[in-house]
Amino acid sequence: MEKDNLSQIRVIGAGPAGLIFALLNARKTFQIILHEKEPEDFFTQQSRALALSPSSIEILSVIGISPDQDSSFVPIKTIHTSQKNSFGRVLIEDDNKELGYVIRYKNLIKLLLDKAKNNKYIKIIFESEVFSINDQQDFFTDGKNKIYKYDFLLFSDGIGKLLSNTFEFETDPNMDGLVALVTEIRTELNHQHCAFERFTVNGPIALLPLENQNLSKLVWTGKKDYIMQMLNCDKQTFATLFVDHFGERLGKLTHIEEKSAYPLSHQFIRQPYQKNIVVSGNAAHSMHPVAGQGLNLTIRDLKVLSSLLYKNNYQISEALLKQYSDQRKREVLSLMKISSHLVKGFSNQIVGANLLRGSAMLFLDNSFFVKKMFREKFSYGKN
Ligand SMILES: Cc1cc2nc3c(=O)[nH]c(=O)nc-3n(C[C@H](O)[C@H](O)[C@H](O)COP(=O)(O)OP(=O)(O)OC[C@H]3O[C@@H](n4cnc5c(N)ncnc54)[C@H](O)[C@@H]3O)c2cc1C
Repeated sequence: MEKDNLSQIRVIGAGPAGLIFALLNARKTFQIILHEKEPEDFFTQQSRALALSPSSIEILSVIGISPDQDSSFVPIKTIHTSQKNSFGRVLIEDDNKELGYVIRYKNLIKLLLDKAKNNKYIKIIFESEVFSINDQQDFFTDGKNKIYKYDFLLFSDGIGKLLSNTFEFETDPNMDGLVALVTEIRTELNHQHCAFERFTVNGPIALLPLENQNLSKLVWTGKKDYIMQMLNCDKQTFATLFVDHFGERLGKLTHIEEKSAYPLSHQFIRQPYQKNIVVSGNAAHSMHPVAGQGLNLTIRDLKVLSSLLYKNNYQISEALLKQYSDQRKREVLSLMKISSHLVKGFSNQIVGANLLRGSAMLFLDNSFFVKKMFREKFSYGKN
C-alpha cells in the first residue's frame, strides 16, 4: 500500500458540511484536505434546492458568500402554511428583513468549491471514496487502497455509513420509508417570493420560490409507494394531482421538469465525537425536510465547532469535543423533534384532528408572539 505521511486535518465528504468546515477553518498553520467520492461534475446533477435561514446567511458571509454578491440566492419574503381540506392558515412575514433565501444545492456547492479551490490551505481529492477507518491508529483508506493519516477528522459523508460500528445511531421507526419527490414547476401565477408548506394526510408539500417569478422548487414527501406513483405518472396526471392537493394558490401548472426522488432518513448520533473525530452534517443528524432545517442546523454546528477549535488553537482533546457536543445537543434534539412532530401530527387522521389543527393554525396566525417565537426558532435555532 502506498502511504501518504502528511498528518493533518482531513474531511470525508465535500458536501456543504465538509466544504463549509474547511472554509471556516483553513489557515496558514495547516492544510485541510477533503476526500470526496464523486467526481467534481457530479454536483451539477443534484436537483434539490435549500432554504437557508438568516443565521446560515450570516455564517456564509464570513467565508465571503452572500446574497449581496450572488444572484443565485432567491429571497423568501413570506411563508404560507396550510393544510388540505381545512380552514386556517399561518402567514409569516417580517417587514424588516428577508425570512431566508433559497439556493439550488448545485449552486451552493459551486460557490463553495470556487472559494475552496482559491484557498491554498484547502485541497480537495475527488473520486477518493473512503472505505474504512482505523480510529485507533488515526488513519483511513480510500478506494485506491491508499492510507491517509489524520490528526483531526471531520466525518461528513451525508449518511454515516462507515461509522455504524463506532457511533450509536438513534432512529425513529415511524419516520422510516419516507421519500421526497423533487422537481421544478412553472405556475400560472407568480410566487411573489412566498415559500409554501401544505400539509396533507399523505405528507407535506413544500414550494420554494426560484429566480424566475413563476418558477418554484417542489418537494413532495410521503411514503415510498405513494411517492413512486407520482414519480412515475405522466405530466398531465401529476399536474391534476398537484392542484388537487396544493389548491390553486399559484394557479395551474404550466410546466414540470424531470422528477427525482430522495430517500429520507431520520436519525442522529447522541455523542457525535470521539478522541479526534467529529461527525457532522447529515451523518450526525438527518431529518425530514419539512421545516427546511437540516443544513441550517449543520451550519450553526460548524460555527460553534470552528470557534471552539480556534479558541483552543486547534489543540484537539476529547474534553473540547465534548464541549462542542454539549453546546449543540439541545438545539439538535429540539429541531429533530419538531420536524418529526410536524410530519406525524399532520398525517394523523383520527376524528377531529383536522379541526384541531385548523384551530391551532388560526390561533397561531393571530398570535404575534408565538409567530415571532417560531420565526426565531427556525431562523436562529433559539430555544
Ligand atoms: C429533498 C430535500 C430537501 C432539503 N431541503 C433543505 C432545506 O430547505 N434547508 C436545509 O437546511 N436543509 C435541507 N435539506 C437537508 C440538506 O440537503 C442536508 O442537510 C445537507 O445536504 C447535508 O450536507 P452534508 O454535507 O452533511 O451531506 P451531503 O450533502 O449528503 O454531502 C455528503 C458528501 O459526502 C460524499 N461522500 C459520501 N460517502 C463518501 C465516502 N465514503 N468517501 C468520500 N466522500 C463520500 C458524498 O458524495 C457527498 O458529496 C434537504 C434535504 C433533502 C433530501
